[in-house]
Amino acid sequence: MMKMVIDPGHGGEDPGVVAGQLREKDLTLQLALRMRGYLTSRYRVHVYMTRTTDRTLRLRERVSLINHHYADFFCSLHINSGKGHGLESYVSKSSSLDQSIEVQHRIHTKVISLLAPYKIMDRGMKQADMYLLHYAMVPGIHFECLFIDTVDEQRYLQNHSFMTKLGNAMGEGIAKALQFIPRRAGIVYRIIAGSFNQREQAVALQKYLRLGGIDSMIMNVGASHQCYQVQAGAFQVRSNAEARLQDIKDMGFLDAYIG
Ligand SMILES: [Zn+2]
Repeated sequence: MMKMVIDPGHGGEDPGVVAGQLREKDLTLQLALRMRGYLTSRYRVHVYMTRTTDRTLRLRERVSLINHHYADFFCSLHINSGKGHGLESYVSKSSSLDQSIEVQHRIHTKVISLLAPYKIMDRGMKQADMYLLHYAMVPGIHFECLFIDTVDEQRYLQNHSFMTKLGNAMGEGIAKALQFIPRRAGIVYRIIAGSFNQREQAVALQKYLRLGGIDSMIMNVGASHQCYQVQAGAFQVRSNAEARLQDIKDMGFLDAYIG
């Protein structure tokens, strides 16, 4: 099963950005809890949180939590400030995690499309070596959601139904991009293109598959968590899985199998 970590920004002694009664640390926790509820009720995924209460947590501790859980992915949630408008996302600049950009594109466009009724401004997909993005051993995405000091966005941030929609939209974007398997799905045929002891080898295979137009995800599996599986699709119809398997074998990856 996929594992992800949701990281509500700030907390405890660190309120993040503040405007009147609104504090970033409370808003990020609200979003994180909604996102967790959405994902765990709909998808077969283990969701860990760096915090579930208003507690102080250093960046270093957040990174070690992400690494400790051998997560496949993490999502950091923040609220912007500076009187602007809209939502932006960040992934690492690091080239070793360049599949992050592909994943970011899939997540970001999904989130923006799900929020279309609210006419949230799309501030774009960006890259920056923020602490977590840089030091976590797995790919992740960092969201800056709306502006705490912009009056019309404050209304959204205080609106429970909007916050639910936003948390759900980010969850759905991640679920689709990372090929989470829906809970209601019966038998699911997963295509395993390869399994490796080194993450770099899994990343290399992922790049080859990408050249052939096949999206894949790297998952940590096995009791010791030192096995990196490249999952190139999950299907509910066996014939679709077999067609994908054949495509991958035709590319020369004869060890691929349906798991
Ligand atoms: Zn922040």
